[in-house]
Amino acid sequence: MPHMDLSLIGYIITTLSFIGLTVYAFNRKRDLYITTQNSPLFFYVVIIISLLFAFLNLFHLIELFSGDQVSFFLPPGIDTIAQFSGILVQSVLILMLFASKMVIRPAKRIGRVLAIGAHPDDIEIAAGAALAKMRDAGYLISGMVMTRGETGGNGDTRPIEAGRSAQFLGLDNVQVLDFSDAYLSKDVVKIIRAIEEMITKVQPDIIFTHSIHDIHQDHQTVYKATLRAARHPRITILCYESPSATQDFHPTYFIDVNKYVDVKIESIRKHWGQRKKPYMKSDVIRGRLAFRGAQAKVDYAEGFEVARMLSAI
Ligand SMILES: [Zn+2]
Repeated sequence: MPHMDLSLIGYIITTLSFIGLTVYAFNRKRDLYITTQNSPLFFYVVIIISLLFAFLNLFHLIELFSGDQVSFFLPPGIDTIAQFSGILVQSVLILMLFASKMVIRPAKRIGRVLAIGAHPDDIEIAAGAALAKMRDAGYLISGMVMTRGETGGNGDTRPIEAGRSAQFLGLDNVQVLDFSDAYLSKDVVKIIRAIEEMITKVQPDIIFTHSIHDIHQDHQTVYKATLRAARHPRITILCYESPSATQDFHPTYFIDVNKYVDVKIESIRKHWGQRKKPYMKSDVIRGRLAFRGAQAKVDYAEGFEVARMLSAI
């Protein structure tokens, strides 16, 4: 009977698809469970709905094979839900899975990191992959941006983009201050105070900041202010590589970011207003990671200069 055959094929496909979705969600649990955009609830919604519809369709499949004997288990109307809504629900679930940006939730906090940048995109461009990886490893990560980036773009939207990017990377918080873009050296004392306050608040074990080997005056100011602000506490200070780093930038500390290349690129893409800048291109980002990776004997790495390094023991 042609109608019967079609139903059979439909139920088999739907059942297998829902089981496939369940397996996929379980395999990606570490990613799905996590994310800053979706609560663990999302994971369980996917699993429960997938299993429910897989069961309903499987039930129907058995019914088609064995006659009508088992249908009394199901309340009226459930047949229709399984048959027609199943496809729709599945499509929605798949779209949700694709739309969810997967960031990994750390099991426990193993340390605290403070990343300091002069402008809203500095942290991501220089150390986005390392921060995402450290976040997944269990570090609590705070971001601090000195300006709204009004000289290099729109000072109203750039802080919002910085927030979106930080959220995607999995930063626990990011603070955008309102010092004058391109004129940070005027406010160096206030900037030192701001960093000191942040250090007191966050109690970081590691600080990421700009390098002195950087042609941008704001970057140099942030480097100097960071070292000044962190003069007393026991903190490791790593200096990252901005596109404006000079030929004298020589990293000696590398973080293997092989799995985080796309995460970094996506985080930089969140700075949509800056997308036309040459250093925002994914090829350029990937190329730099590959270059530093080659120096570190891995595929992709971010390189840092060590301003101060405390041993782990
Ligand atoms: Zn900058």
